[in-house]
This record gives sequence, structure tokens and C-alpha cells, in this order.
Amino acid sequence: MRIAGQVSIDDIPKICPLVSRTANPQYGEHGTRVVNVAGVRFGGERPVVIGGPCAVESHAQTVGLAHAVKRAGADMLRGGAYKPRTSPHDFQGSGLEGLCILSIARQETGLPIVTEVMDPRMVAEVAEVADMLQVGSRNMHNYTLLAEVGRARKPILLKRGMSASLCEWLGAAEYIAKQGNMDIVLCERGIRGFPSGEYSRYVLDLNVIPAAKMLAFLPVVVDPSHATGVSAMVEPASRAALEMGSHGLLIEVADLTLGEPRCDGLQAIDAATLARIVRFAQEKKSVRSPELAAEGGKERRPSSALKATAAFPS
Ligand code: PEP
Ligand code: MN
Repeated sequence: MRIAGQVSIDDIPKICPLVSRTANPQYGEHGTRVVNVAGVRFGGERPVVIGGPCAVESHAQTVGLAHAVKRAGADMLRGGAYKPRTSPHDFQGSGLEGLCILSIARQETGLPIVTEVMDPRMVAEVAEVADMLQVGSRNMHNYTLLAEVGRARKPILLKRGMSASLCEWLGAAEYIAKQGNMDIVLCERGIRGFPSGEYSRYVLDLNVIPAAKMLAFLPVVVDPSHATGVSAMVEPASRAALEMGSHGLLIEVADLTLGEPRCDGLQAIDAATLARIVRFAQEKKSVRSPELAAEGGKERRPSSALKATAAFPS
């Protein structure tokens, strides 16, 4: 039966010709487009680790954490100046002042910055400070924003919508690519499932890492912080993501001696834990997907490889 509006992974080459692996044979079966963010190479020789606060709250908090993240050996600094919050009465981020603080943090540490942009009208302003623009989970379906960041001359970290299929996620990447910006890094951050909120915030979809890598040639990273919502789960989830072939990690870090962060404190890890994750990531010599390695070089179309896996559900 054919249903209006339904797409499957077999349609990816047709609906996403710019990011699809099959539609771009120059990347072969395993090649990744390396996305260079101020010298940090996503999809390069080793996984990239990004650490930093959920929100930029103050100069002391963010600059202090930036130094701790740097000492831990991470490659980039994260931090939201604009925060998408469930309640409009909650802290919404520190806005322009937050962007200035991020810029100081980069100046002091040399760490490139990724920060979220929520509003198409703010893209130019945020892009002046950010080395990489983050499109958040809630905005993955905001096609106006996707087109606008596609016109920005900055790499994009595209989070997966919390209820988005892989086709929808790659479709969102295609919107950015259509504007001429191919510097896109996909970020899995957990999806809604029936146990979401019972023992973890979302369900970390590790399986999507090899699947996305099979269907598209873009680097794929994982945010274990929002995926789990529990600080004790962040380190093992990071290792699991790297074992599944993630090209990097986006992790929330806090200095709890400064008091409780204004958002997402329960999922923040400390700098010592970040340093252990960085060491684990640096030991990963290869980020090839395990299932691709198992193919033994035999030519198979990406979606038929997924179908073959689906035939053995247990
Ligand atoms: C974030 O990384 O700051 C964030 C809000 O994440 P998400 O969009 O995945 O919820
Ligand atoms: Mn957060």
C-alpha cells in the first residue's frame, strides 16, 4: 500500500541527492566528508570531543569552564547563549551578553565555539561569534531556519529532532545543503520512546549512527548528555557511542562548586570525567562502523545492507 507523504530509506538518494551516499559515489562505501571547524576535523582521524555548559550564565562560569574543558583535552567549547526552554518563564539564556562571553572564552583558550541559533533573524549575529552554528532538536523541522543557516558561511551542527525519523533528519540536512552549505555534522541526541522520562531523559539511539553513516557521507556525533539526562550515564553512553562509530561527542560540563547550573544540572559531568572520556576518544584509532567493516569490502548498496540487518531482528 502506498501512503501520501511516506518515505523510506530507499528514497534517500532521490529526496536527499546532495547528502546521500549513493547519489555521491565519490565518497564510496565508507568515505566521510571531513568538516573543518577552525582546525577541528569532524570525520577526520580521531573523534572530536566538545564540552561546556548547557547555558552561558556568566563570565566566571563560562570562562572558568572553558579553561577546564581545555585542560581536560577537549577540542571545542559548547554553550547556549539562546536556550529553547519548555517554560517561557524559565531562564532563556543570556543572549548577546552570552555571545560576548563565548567570544572571550575562545580568545582565552583558543577553543572553537559551537552555540545554538533558534531564530532565522539571528543567524548573522550568532555566526559572527560562533565557529559552528547549532540547530537544536526542537528546530530540526524549522525549514526557514535550516535554509538561513544554509546561507551562512559557517559549519552546522544539526541535532536530530527528538521524534524525527532518519529520513526526516537527512531531509533537514538536505535543506541546509541546498543553500550551498555542505559543512554539516549530524548529532544524535536521544529520541522519545515509551520509557523516556522513566529512567532516562530520552532513548539514546545508538543504531542510528551506523545507519546514518551508511546512507549519508556526513560526520555523525552523539550528545550523551541530553540523550540520558543522568550524569552517571554520560561516560558509559559516550564510550558506547564511540564503539558504534560516532565521529565525536557533545557533552555538558559543570563546575558544581559554583552551585547548581540554571539548566540541566542533573546531566552535567565534571571536568575530571570529561578528561577520562577524552582519553578514551583519543585511543579510538578508527571510527569505521562495525557493520561496514563486517561487509569485507563486498559492494552492497547502503539501504540493502540495512534491509539485510532488519531480516534478523533478534
Ligand atoms: C543543547 O544542546 O543545548 C540543547 C538544547 O539540546 P537539544 O536541542 O538536543 O535538546
Ligand atoms: Mn542542556
